[in-house]
Amino acid sequence: MTPKSNLKILYISAEVVPFAKTGGLADVAGSLPLALASEGHDVRIVMPRYKKITSPMHYITDFPVSVDTRKETCIVRESGIDFKVGKQNKSVPVYFIDSYQYFDRDSMYCYFDEAERFAFFSRAVIDMLPKINFQPDVIHCNDWQSGPVSMILKEQCSNDPFYNNISTIFTIHNLQYQGNYPKETLKLFGLDEKVFTPDKAEFYGQFSFMKAGIVYSDIVNTVSETYANEIQTPEYGEGLEGLLENRKNDLYGIVNGISYEDFNPATDSRIYKNYSSKDIQNKKENKFSLQREVGLPIKDVPVIGLISRLVNQKGLDIIEDIMDKMMDMDLQFILLGSGDEHYENFFKKVKEEYPKKMGLTLGFNANLAQRIYAGCDMFLMPSRFEPCGLGQLISLRYGTIPIVRATGGLADTIEDFMLETGQGNGFSFNDYSSTELINTLIRAVDVYNNHTEAWKSLVQTALGQDYSWSKSAEKYLDLYYISMGKHRAGIKTA
Ligand code: ADP
Repeated sequence: MTPKSNLKILYISAEVVPFAKTGGLADVAGSLPLALASEGHDVRIVMPRYKKITSPMHYITDFPVSVDTRKETCIVRESGIDFKVGKQNKSVPVYFIDSYQYFDRDSMYCYFDEAERFAFFSRAVIDMLPKINFQPDVIHCNDWQSGPVSMILKEQCSNDPFYNNISTIFTIHNLQYQGNYPKETLKLFGLDEKVFTPDKAEFYGQFSFMKAGIVYSDIVNTVSETYANEIQTPEYGEGLEGLLENRKNDLYGIVNGISYEDFNPATDSRIYKNYSSKDIQNKKENKFSLQREVGLPIKDVPVIGLISRLVNQKGLDIIEDIMDKMMDMDLQFILLGSGDEHYENFFKKVKEEYPKKMGLTLGFNANLAQRIYAGCDMFLMPSRFEPCGLGQLISLRYGTIPIVRATGGLADTIEDFMLETGQGNGFSFNDYSSTELINTLIRAVDVYNNHTEAWKSLVQTALGQDYSWSKSAEKYLDLYYISMGKHRAGIKTA
Protein backbone atom coordinates (compact mmCIF):
# COMPACT_ATOMS: atom_id res chain seq x y z
CA MET A 1 0.00 0.00 0.00
CA THR A 2 1.16 3.59 -0.67
CA PRO A 3 2.70 5.05 2.46
CA LYS A 4 0.28 7.70 3.67
CA SER A 5 -0.42 9.14 7.07
CA ASN A 6 -2.65 7.09 9.31
CA LEU A 7 -6.33 7.82 9.01
CA LYS A 8 -9.18 7.52 11.45
CA ILE A 9 -12.01 5.68 9.76
CA LEU A 10 -15.46 4.77 11.02
CA TYR A 11 -16.96 1.90 9.02
CA ILE A 12 -20.75 1.59 9.37
CA SER A 13 -22.57 -1.55 8.31
CA ALA A 14 -25.86 -3.24 9.16
CA GLU A 15 -24.12 -6.62 9.09
CA VAL A 16 -20.57 -7.73 9.78
CA VAL A 17 -18.89 -11.16 9.75
CA PRO A 18 -18.44 -12.88 12.22
CA PHE A 19 -21.36 -11.31 14.12
CA ALA A 20 -24.28 -11.23 11.68
CA LYS A 21 -24.61 -12.02 8.00
CA THR A 22 -27.29 -12.31 5.36
CA GLY A 23 -25.17 -11.53 2.29
CA GLY A 24 -21.94 -10.25 0.83
CA LEU A 25 -21.98 -6.91 2.68
CA ALA A 26 -21.21 -8.76 5.91
CA ASP A 27 -18.13 -10.41 4.36
CA VAL A 28 -16.87 -7.06 3.10
CA ALA A 29 -17.53 -5.29 6.41
CA GLY A 30 -15.68 -8.04 8.25
CA SER A 31 -12.60 -7.95 6.04
CA LEU A 32 -11.95 -4.55 4.37
CA PRO A 33 -11.55 -2.77 7.74
CA LEU A 34 -9.00 -5.42 8.78
CA ALA A 35 -7.01 -4.88 5.59
CA LEU A 36 -6.96 -1.11 6.29
CA ALA A 37 -6.09 -1.61 9.95
CA SER A 38 -3.21 -3.90 9.04
CA GLU A 39 -1.67 -0.87 7.28
CA GLY A 40 -1.78 1.08 10.53
CA HIS A 41 -5.04 3.00 10.13
CA ASP A 42 -7.33 3.48 13.10
CA VAL A 43 -10.42 1.74 11.74
CA ARG A 44 -13.47 1.07 13.86
CA ILE A 45 -16.66 -0.66 12.86
CA VAL A 46 -20.16 0.07 14.09
CA MET A 47 -23.25 -2.09 13.64
CA PRO A 48 -26.58 -2.80 15.37
CA ARG A 49 -26.56 -5.32 18.19
CA TYR A 50 -29.11 -7.88 17.07
CA LYS A 51 -30.56 -10.28 19.62
CA LYS A 52 -28.86 -13.29 18.05
CA ILE A 53 -25.36 -11.86 18.58
CA THR A 54 -24.07 -13.63 21.65
CA SER A 55 -20.34 -12.84 21.43
CA PRO A 56 -18.84 -11.38 24.57
CA MET A 57 -18.83 -7.58 24.54
CA HIS A 58 -18.49 -4.90 27.14
CA TYR A 59 -20.51 -1.84 28.02
CA ILE A 60 -19.08 1.50 26.90
CA THR A 61 -21.78 4.11 27.43
CA ASP A 62 -25.44 4.92 27.05
CA PHE A 63 -27.32 8.04 26.07
CA PRO A 64 -30.72 9.19 24.81
CA VAL A 65 -31.18 9.49 21.05
CA SER A 66 -33.80 11.73 19.42
CA VAL A 67 -36.34 9.92 17.29
CA ASP A 68 -39.12 12.24 16.18
CA THR A 69 -40.09 14.09 19.37
CA ARG A 70 -39.12 11.19 21.63
CA LYS A 71 -35.88 10.03 23.19
CA GLU A 72 -34.87 6.38 22.87
CA THR A 73 -32.02 4.88 24.85
CA CYS A 74 -28.92 3.73 23.00
CA ILE A 75 -26.42 1.50 24.74
CA VAL A 76 -23.00 1.25 23.12
CA ARG A 77 -21.09 -1.98 23.67
CA GLU A 78 -17.75 -3.02 22.27
CA SER A 79 -16.16 -6.17 20.96
CA GLY A 80 -13.54 -6.65 18.28
CA ILE A 81 -12.36 -8.72 15.33
CA ASP A 82 -8.94 -10.22 15.90
CA PHE A 83 -6.44 -10.68 13.11
CA LYS A 84 -2.75 -11.13 12.60
CA VAL A 85 -0.20 -8.99 10.80
CA GLY A 86 2.78 -11.29 10.44
CA LYS A 87 3.15 -12.66 13.95
CA GLN A 88 1.55 -9.67 15.63
CA ASN A 89 -1.98 -10.01 17.04
CA LYS A 90 -4.23 -7.08 16.27
CA SER A 91 -7.89 -6.26 16.67
CA VAL A 92 -10.38 -3.92 15.00
CA PRO A 93 -12.86 -2.49 17.52
CA VAL A 94 -16.53 -3.13 16.78
CA TYR A 95 -19.12 -0.91 18.45
CA PHE A 96 -22.61 -2.28 18.84
CA ILE A 97 -25.61 0.03 18.91
CA ASP A 98 -27.88 -1.73 21.34
CA SER A 99 -31.52 -0.85 21.83
CA TYR A 100 -34.19 -2.96 23.48
CA GLN A 101 -36.75 -1.04 21.50
CA TYR A 102 -35.30 -1.61 18.02
CA PHE A 103 -32.81 -4.48 17.85
CA ASP A 104 -33.75 -6.96 20.56
CA ARG A 105 -35.69 -9.05 18.03
CA ASP A 106 -35.28 -12.49 16.48
CA SER A 107 -34.53 -11.39 12.89
CA MET A 108 -32.22 -8.74 11.57
CA TYR A 109 -34.51 -7.11 9.03
CA CYS A 110 -37.99 -6.71 7.58
CA TYR A 111 -39.94 -5.25 10.48
CA PHE A 112 -42.91 -2.87 10.26
CA ASP A 113 -40.82 -0.04 11.76
CA GLU A 114 -37.70 -0.59 9.64
CA ALA A 115 -37.38 3.13 8.80
CA GLU A 116 -37.48 4.02 12.47
CA ARG A 117 -34.97 1.33 13.42
CA PHE A 118 -32.36 2.57 10.99
CA ALA A 119 -33.15 6.26 11.53
CA PHE A 120 -32.36 5.57 15.17
CA PHE A 121 -29.22 3.65 14.20
CA SER A 122 -27.93 6.45 11.95
CA ARG A 123 -28.53 9.13 14.55
CA ALA A 124 -27.10 6.98 17.37
CA VAL A 125 -23.86 6.39 15.44
CA ILE A 126 -23.35 10.13 15.02
CA ASP A 127 -24.22 10.94 18.63
CA MET A 128 -21.89 8.19 19.83
CA LEU A 129 -18.73 9.75 18.39
CA PRO A 130 -18.04 12.54 20.92
CA LYS A 131 -19.05 10.19 23.73
CA ILE A 132 -16.38 7.66 22.78
CA ASN A 133 -14.01 10.49 21.86
CA PHE A 134 -13.49 9.31 18.29
CA GLN A 135 -13.37 11.98 15.61
CA PRO A 136 -12.91 10.19 12.29
CA ASP A 137 -11.36 11.69 9.16
CA VAL A 138 -13.80 9.64 7.14
CA ILE A 139 -17.12 7.99 7.84
CA HIS A 140 -17.67 5.10 5.46
CA CYS A 141 -21.39 4.32 5.10
CA ASN A 142 -22.70 1.19 3.42
CA ASP A 143 -26.09 0.61 1.81
CA TRP A 144 -29.39 2.21 2.69
CA GLN A 145 -29.36 1.49 6.41
CA SER A 146 -26.62 4.08 6.96
CA GLY A 147 -27.66 6.37 4.07
CA PRO A 148 -29.00 9.10 6.38
CA VAL A 149 -25.69 9.54 8.22
CA SER A 150 -24.21 11.98 5.71
CA MET A 151 -27.57 13.79 5.49
CA ILE A 152 -27.70 14.32 9.24
CA LEU A 153 -24.09 15.50 9.24
CA LYS A 154 -24.69 18.04 6.46
CA GLU A 155 -28.14 19.23 7.47
CA GLN A 156 -27.83 19.24 11.23
CA CYS A 157 -24.19 19.11 12.33
CA SER A 158 -22.29 21.30 9.87
CA ASN A 159 -21.84 24.14 12.37
CA ASP A 160 -20.58 21.85 15.08
CA PRO A 161 -16.75 21.88 15.19
CA PHE A 162 -16.69 18.26 16.33
CA TYR A 163 -18.29 17.12 13.07
CA ASN A 164 -17.56 19.66 10.40
CA ASN A 165 -14.24 18.20 9.30
CA ILE A 166 -15.55 14.68 8.87
CA SER A 167 -15.84 13.58 5.25
CA THR A 168 -18.21 10.87 4.08
CA ILE A 169 -18.19 8.09 1.54
CA PHE A 170 -21.22 6.02 0.68
CA THR A 171 -20.83 2.56 -0.83
CA ILE A 172 -23.69 1.02 -2.79
CA HIS A 173 -23.58 -2.75 -2.42
CA ASN A 174 -26.97 -3.25 -4.05
CA LEU A 175 -29.05 -0.44 -5.53
CA GLN A 176 -32.18 -2.56 -5.51
CA TYR A 177 -32.64 -2.23 -1.76
CA GLN A 178 -33.27 1.47 -1.24
CA GLY A 179 -35.12 1.95 2.01
CA ASN A 180 -37.94 4.07 0.58
CA TYR A 181 -40.56 5.07 3.14
CA PRO A 182 -43.45 7.54 3.47
CA LYS A 183 -42.75 11.26 3.64
CA GLU A 184 -43.46 11.31 7.38
CA THR A 185 -40.15 9.48 7.87
CA LEU A 186 -38.58 12.94 7.75
CA LYS A 187 -39.98 13.62 11.20
CA LEU A 188 -37.95 10.75 12.65
CA PHE A 189 -34.86 12.79 11.86
CA GLY A 190 -36.34 16.05 13.08
CA LEU A 191 -35.98 17.38 9.54
CA ASP A 192 -38.44 19.55 7.70
CA GLU A 193 -39.73 19.77 4.14
CA LYS A 194 -36.57 21.50 3.01
CA VAL A 195 -34.86 18.15 2.44
CA PHE A 196 -37.94 16.66 0.81
CA THR A 197 -37.19 17.79 -2.72
CA PRO A 198 -36.18 15.72 -5.77
CA ASP A 199 -32.62 17.06 -5.60
CA LYS A 200 -32.32 15.86 -1.97
CA ALA A 201 -33.93 12.89 -0.22
CA GLU A 202 -37.31 12.72 -1.98
CA PHE A 203 -37.78 9.82 -4.37
CA TYR A 204 -41.13 9.78 -6.16
CA GLY A 205 -43.03 11.04 -3.14
CA GLN A 206 -41.15 8.94 -0.61
CA PHE A 207 -38.21 9.52 1.69
CA SER A 208 -35.29 7.45 0.38
CA PHE A 209 -32.49 6.34 2.70
CA MET A 210 -30.39 5.26 -0.29
CA LYS A 211 -30.91 8.52 -2.14
CA ALA A 212 -29.96 10.51 0.98
CA GLY A 213 -26.68 8.59 1.07
CA ILE A 214 -25.96 9.22 -2.60
CA VAL A 215 -26.89 12.90 -2.53
CA TYR A 216 -25.21 13.98 0.69
CA SER A 217 -21.97 11.96 0.77
CA ASP A 218 -18.75 13.55 -0.44
CA ILE A 219 -17.94 10.48 -2.53
CA VAL A 220 -20.08 7.61 -3.75
CA ASN A 221 -18.81 4.27 -4.91
CA THR A 222 -20.04 0.87 -5.77
CA VAL A 223 -18.40 -2.51 -5.74
CA SER A 224 -17.20 -2.89 -9.33
CA GLU A 225 -16.40 -0.58 -12.21
CA THR A 226 -18.90 -2.23 -14.53
CA TYR A 227 -21.74 -1.85 -12.02
CA ALA A 228 -20.72 1.81 -11.48
CA ASN A 229 -21.33 2.34 -15.21
CA GLU A 230 -24.41 0.11 -15.39
CA ILE A 231 -26.26 1.99 -12.64
CA GLN A 232 -26.14 5.16 -14.69
CA THR A 233 -28.51 3.49 -17.19
CA PRO A 234 -32.29 2.90 -16.89
CA GLU A 235 -31.79 -0.87 -17.12
CA TYR A 236 -29.79 -1.07 -13.88
CA GLY A 237 -30.34 2.33 -12.24
CA GLU A 238 -33.52 1.41 -10.29
CA GLY A 239 -34.85 4.91 -10.97
CA LEU A 240 -31.72 6.58 -9.57
CA GLU A 241 -29.79 6.57 -12.85
CA GLY A 242 -30.28 10.32 -13.41
CA LEU A 243 -28.90 11.20 -10.00
CA LEU A 244 -26.01 8.77 -10.40
CA GLU A 245 -25.15 10.22 -13.78
CA ASN A 246 -25.21 13.70 -12.24
CA ARG A 247 -22.74 12.50 -9.66
CA LYS A 248 -20.59 10.58 -12.13
CA ASN A 249 -17.48 12.64 -11.32
CA ASP A 250 -17.78 11.48 -7.72
CA LEU A 251 -18.86 7.93 -8.52
CA TYR A 252 -16.22 5.20 -8.39
CA GLY A 253 -16.14 1.42 -8.75
CA ILE A 254 -13.91 -0.76 -6.60
CA VAL A 255 -14.20 -4.50 -6.82
CA ASN A 256 -14.51 -6.30 -3.47
CA GLY A 257 -11.84 -8.56 -2.12
CA ILE A 258 -12.31 -11.52 0.21
CA SER A 259 -10.36 -12.50 3.28
CA TYR A 260 -7.62 -14.85 2.08
CA GLU A 261 -7.21 -15.99 5.68
CA ASP A 262 -10.84 -16.95 6.31
CA PHE A 263 -11.20 -18.42 2.83
CA ASN A 264 -8.18 -20.63 2.45
CA PRO A 265 -8.52 -24.24 1.28
CA ALA A 266 -5.15 -25.06 2.82
CA THR A 267 -6.30 -24.21 6.36
CA ASP A 268 -10.11 -24.06 6.31
CA SER A 269 -11.30 -26.25 9.18
CA ARG A 270 -14.87 -26.36 7.82
CA ILE A 271 -13.96 -28.45 4.76
CA TYR A 272 -13.33 -32.22 4.70
CA LYS A 273 -9.70 -32.22 3.56
CA ASN A 274 -7.38 -29.28 3.12
CA TYR A 275 -5.67 -28.72 -0.19
CA SER A 276 -3.70 -26.22 -2.21
CA SER A 277 -2.43 -25.91 -5.76
CA LYS A 278 0.34 -28.36 -4.84
CA ASP A 279 -1.92 -31.17 -3.66
CA ILE A 280 -4.99 -30.53 -5.72
CA GLN A 281 -5.93 -34.22 -5.80
CA ASN A 282 -7.26 -33.66 -2.25
CA LYS A 283 -9.97 -31.48 -3.74
CA LYS A 284 -11.56 -34.64 -5.10
CA GLU A 285 -11.94 -36.06 -1.58
CA ASN A 286 -13.93 -32.96 -0.75
CA LYS A 287 -16.14 -33.72 -3.71
CA PHE A 288 -16.84 -37.29 -2.67
CA SER A 289 -17.46 -36.32 0.96
CA LEU A 290 -19.80 -33.55 -0.16
CA GLN A 291 -21.74 -35.99 -2.32
CA ARG A 292 -22.09 -38.24 0.71
CA GLU A 293 -23.18 -35.35 2.94
CA VAL A 294 -25.93 -34.17 0.59
CA GLY A 295 -27.06 -37.70 -0.26
CA LEU A 296 -25.89 -37.99 -3.86
CA PRO A 297 -24.21 -40.99 -5.50
CA ILE A 298 -20.45 -40.83 -5.01
CA LYS A 299 -18.93 -40.63 -8.45
CA ASP A 300 -16.68 -38.52 -10.59
CA VAL A 301 -19.19 -36.55 -12.63
CA PRO A 302 -19.01 -32.75 -12.87
CA VAL A 303 -20.58 -31.28 -9.74
CA ILE A 304 -22.06 -27.83 -10.04
CA GLY A 305 -22.74 -25.71 -6.96
CA LEU A 306 -24.95 -22.74 -6.29
CA ILE A 307 -25.03 -20.82 -3.00
CA SER A 308 -27.28 -17.84 -2.98
CA ARG A 309 -30.17 -15.83 -1.74
CA LEU A 310 -33.01 -17.23 -3.83
CA VAL A 311 -34.15 -13.98 -5.41
CA ASN A 312 -34.76 -12.83 -8.95
CA GLN A 313 -31.47 -10.95 -9.15
CA LYS A 314 -29.53 -14.20 -9.12
CA GLY A 315 -30.66 -15.51 -12.53
CA LEU A 316 -32.88 -18.20 -11.10
CA ASP A 317 -35.57 -17.79 -13.76
CA ILE A 318 -33.14 -18.76 -16.52
CA ILE A 319 -31.90 -21.64 -14.38
CA GLU A 320 -35.53 -22.71 -14.00
CA ASP A 321 -35.88 -22.67 -17.81
CA ILE A 322 -32.91 -24.99 -18.36
CA MET A 323 -33.38 -27.27 -15.36
CA ASP A 324 -34.67 -30.29 -17.28
CA LYS A 325 -31.93 -30.01 -19.89
CA MET A 326 -29.36 -29.67 -17.14
CA MET A 327 -30.71 -32.70 -15.31
CA ASP A 328 -30.52 -34.71 -18.55
CA MET A 329 -26.76 -34.19 -18.55
CA ASP A 330 -24.39 -36.47 -16.69
CA LEU A 331 -23.74 -34.11 -13.79
CA GLN A 332 -24.86 -33.28 -10.25
CA PHE A 333 -26.25 -30.00 -8.98
CA ILE A 334 -25.89 -28.93 -5.33
CA LEU A 335 -27.82 -25.93 -4.12
CA LEU A 336 -27.72 -24.09 -0.79
CA GLY A 337 -29.97 -21.09 -0.40
CA SER A 338 -33.09 -19.52 0.92
CA GLY A 339 -35.42 -16.83 -0.24
CA ASP A 340 -38.49 -16.48 -2.43
CA GLU A 341 -41.11 -19.13 -1.90
CA HIS A 342 -41.51 -19.63 -5.63
CA TYR A 343 -37.87 -20.69 -6.04
CA GLU A 344 -37.79 -22.74 -2.84
CA ASN A 345 -40.82 -24.70 -4.09
CA PHE A 346 -39.40 -25.02 -7.57
CA PHE A 347 -36.11 -26.50 -6.34
CA LYS A 348 -37.95 -28.82 -3.94
CA LYS A 349 -39.82 -30.22 -6.95
CA VAL A 350 -36.60 -30.65 -8.93
CA LYS A 351 -35.11 -32.51 -5.97
CA GLU A 352 -38.15 -34.81 -5.84
CA GLU A 353 -37.93 -35.47 -9.55
CA TYR A 354 -34.17 -35.97 -9.70
CA PRO A 355 -33.15 -37.21 -6.23
CA LYS A 356 -29.90 -38.72 -7.53
CA LYS A 357 -28.84 -35.60 -9.38
CA MET A 358 -29.71 -32.75 -7.11
CA GLY A 359 -28.58 -31.97 -3.57
CA LEU A 360 -30.77 -29.36 -1.91
CA THR A 361 -30.36 -27.51 1.37
CA LEU A 362 -32.80 -24.69 2.02
CA GLY A 363 -31.52 -22.30 4.68
CA PHE A 364 -28.41 -20.39 5.62
CA ASN A 365 -25.41 -22.50 6.56
CA ALA A 366 -21.97 -20.89 6.46
CA ASN A 367 -20.11 -24.15 7.19
CA LEU A 368 -21.86 -26.18 4.52
CA ALA A 369 -21.24 -23.29 2.12
CA GLN A 370 -17.49 -23.79 2.52
CA ARG A 371 -17.77 -27.50 1.83
CA ILE A 372 -19.73 -26.74 -1.33
CA TYR A 373 -17.16 -24.20 -2.50
CA ALA A 374 -14.45 -26.80 -1.87
CA GLY A 375 -16.24 -29.89 -3.14
CA CYS A 376 -17.75 -28.67 -6.41
CA ASP A 377 -16.06 -28.47 -9.79
CA MET A 378 -18.07 -25.50 -10.99
CA PHE A 379 -20.08 -22.70 -9.43
CA LEU A 380 -23.15 -21.27 -11.10
CA MET A 381 -23.85 -17.52 -10.94
CA PRO A 382 -25.84 -16.37 -13.98
CA SER A 383 -27.04 -13.15 -12.32
CA ARG A 384 -29.40 -10.70 -13.96
CA PHE A 385 -27.32 -8.02 -12.24
CA GLU A 386 -24.48 -8.38 -9.77
CA PRO A 387 -22.88 -5.35 -8.07
CA CYS A 388 -19.73 -7.36 -7.30
CA GLY A 389 -20.54 -10.90 -6.25
CA LEU A 390 -18.43 -12.80 -3.77
CA GLY A 391 -19.46 -16.33 -4.70
CA GLN A 392 -17.28 -16.31 -7.81
CA LEU A 393 -14.29 -14.97 -5.84
CA ILE A 394 -14.62 -17.57 -3.10
CA SER A 395 -15.00 -20.24 -5.80
CA LEU A 396 -11.79 -19.19 -7.52
CA ARG A 397 -10.00 -19.34 -4.18
CA TYR A 398 -11.15 -22.96 -3.82
CA GLY A 399 -10.27 -23.92 -7.41
CA THR A 400 -13.95 -24.19 -8.34
CA ILE A 401 -14.66 -22.76 -11.76
CA PRO A 402 -17.31 -20.02 -11.97
CA ILE A 403 -19.95 -20.04 -14.70
CA VAL A 404 -21.31 -16.50 -14.79
CA ARG A 405 -23.22 -13.96 -16.75
CA ALA A 406 -20.91 -11.05 -17.63
CA THR A 407 -22.58 -8.29 -15.62
CA GLY A 408 -21.28 -5.97 -12.87
CA GLY A 409 -18.52 -7.50 -10.81
CA LEU A 410 -18.87 -10.84 -12.57
CA ALA A 411 -17.78 -9.12 -15.80
CA ASP A 412 -14.84 -7.49 -14.00
CA THR A 413 -13.53 -10.64 -12.34
CA ILE A 414 -14.29 -13.57 -14.65
CA GLU A 415 -12.72 -13.87 -18.07
CA ASP A 416 -14.25 -16.44 -20.39
CA PHE A 417 -12.04 -19.49 -20.91
CA MET A 418 -10.76 -20.09 -24.45
CA LEU A 419 -9.83 -23.70 -25.07
CA GLU A 420 -7.56 -22.74 -27.98
CA THR A 421 -5.39 -20.36 -25.96
CA GLY A 422 -5.92 -21.51 -22.37
CA GLN A 423 -6.77 -17.88 -21.49
CA GLY A 424 -9.47 -17.15 -18.91
CA ASN A 425 -10.46 -18.12 -15.36
CA GLY A 426 -14.07 -19.27 -15.80
CA PHE A 427 -16.96 -19.41 -18.23
CA SER A 428 -19.11 -16.43 -19.02
CA PHE A 429 -21.86 -15.28 -21.36
CA ASN A 430 -23.30 -11.88 -22.20
CA ASP A 431 -27.03 -11.98 -22.95
CA TYR A 432 -29.38 -12.74 -20.13
CA SER A 433 -30.93 -15.80 -21.77
CA SER A 434 -31.49 -19.44 -20.91
CA THR A 435 -30.05 -20.45 -24.30
CA GLU A 436 -26.77 -18.72 -23.56
CA LEU A 437 -26.74 -20.23 -20.09
CA ILE A 438 -27.24 -23.81 -21.23
CA ASN A 439 -24.70 -23.39 -24.06
CA THR A 440 -22.13 -22.09 -21.61
CA LEU A 441 -22.84 -24.92 -19.19
CA ILE A 442 -22.43 -27.46 -22.00
CA ARG A 443 -19.14 -25.81 -22.97
CA ALA A 444 -17.85 -26.00 -19.39
CA VAL A 445 -18.89 -29.63 -18.96
CA ASP A 446 -17.24 -30.48 -22.28
CA VAL A 447 -13.91 -29.05 -21.13
CA TYR A 448 -14.24 -30.95 -17.85
CA ASN A 449 -15.07 -34.26 -19.54
CA ASN A 450 -13.00 -34.16 -22.71
CA HIS A 451 -10.05 -31.82 -22.13
CA THR A 452 -8.67 -32.97 -18.82
CA GLU A 453 -5.33 -31.17 -19.10
CA ALA A 454 -7.02 -27.89 -20.03
CA TRP A 455 -9.37 -28.31 -17.06
CA LYS A 456 -6.46 -28.96 -14.70
CA SER A 457 -4.70 -25.85 -15.87
CA LEU A 458 -7.92 -23.84 -15.53
CA VAL A 459 -8.17 -24.98 -11.92
CA GLN A 460 -4.54 -23.92 -11.36
CA THR A 461 -5.32 -20.53 -12.91
CA ALA A 462 -8.26 -20.12 -10.54
CA LEU A 463 -6.14 -21.05 -7.52
CA GLY A 464 -3.47 -18.56 -8.61
CA GLN A 465 -5.80 -15.53 -8.78
CA ASP A 466 -5.43 -12.81 -6.18
CA TYR A 467 -8.74 -11.36 -5.04
CA SER A 468 -7.53 -10.65 -1.54
CA TRP A 469 -8.07 -7.10 -0.27
CA SER A 470 -4.54 -5.89 -0.97
CA LYS A 471 -5.25 -3.97 -4.19
CA SER A 472 -8.81 -2.91 -3.43
CA ALA A 473 -8.01 -1.68 0.09
CA GLU A 474 -5.42 0.62 -1.44
CA LYS A 475 -8.06 1.96 -3.81
CA TYR A 476 -10.37 2.65 -0.87
CA LEU A 477 -7.59 4.53 0.81
CA ASP A 478 -7.19 6.70 -2.29
CA LEU A 479 -10.93 7.32 -2.22
CA TYR A 480 -10.81 8.36 1.43
CA TYR A 481 -8.20 10.97 0.53
CA ILE A 482 -10.30 12.22 -2.38
CA SER A 483 -13.32 12.49 -0.11
CA MET A 484 -11.32 14.37 2.56
CA GLY A 485 -9.94 16.75 -0.08
CA LYS A 486 -13.38 17.38 -1.45
CA HIS A 487 -14.82 17.95 1.98
CA ARG A 488 -12.05 20.37 2.93
CA ALA A 489 -12.50 22.29 -0.29
CA GLY A 490 -16.16 22.65 0.69
CA ILE A 491 -17.43 21.31 -2.61
CA LYS A 492 -21.19 21.17 -2.28
CA THR A 493 -23.02 17.89 -2.74
CA ALA A 494 -26.58 18.71 -1.66
P1 ADP B 1 -25.34 -11.01 -2.13
O1 ADP B 1 -24.58 -10.06 -1.25
O2 ADP B 1 -26.10 -10.34 -3.23
O3 ADP B 1 -26.19 -11.96 -1.38
P2 ADP B 1 -22.69 -12.06 -2.82
O4 ADP B 1 -22.23 -13.06 -3.82
O5 ADP B 1 -22.03 -10.72 -2.86
O6 ADP B 1 -24.27 -11.92 -2.94
O7 ADP B 1 -22.43 -12.64 -1.37
C1 ADP B 1 -23.18 -13.69 -0.86
C2 ADP B 1 -22.44 -14.25 0.35
O8 ADP B 1 -23.37 -14.93 1.18
C3 ADP B 1 -21.37 -15.25 -0.03
O9 ADP B 1 -20.39 -15.27 0.98
C4 ADP B 1 -22.17 -16.56 -0.04
O10 ADP B 1 -21.35 -17.68 0.14
C5 ADP B 1 -23.06 -16.34 1.17
N1 ADP B 1 -24.35 -17.05 1.14
C6 ADP B 1 -25.42 -16.79 0.36
N2 ADP B 1 -26.42 -17.63 0.64
C7 ADP B 1 -25.98 -18.45 1.61
C8 ADP B 1 -26.55 -19.54 2.34
N3 ADP B 1 -27.79 -19.95 2.11
N4 ADP B 1 -25.79 -20.16 3.27
C9 ADP B 1 -24.52 -19.75 3.50
N5 ADP B 1 -23.93 -18.73 2.87
C10 ADP B 1 -24.64 -18.07 1.94
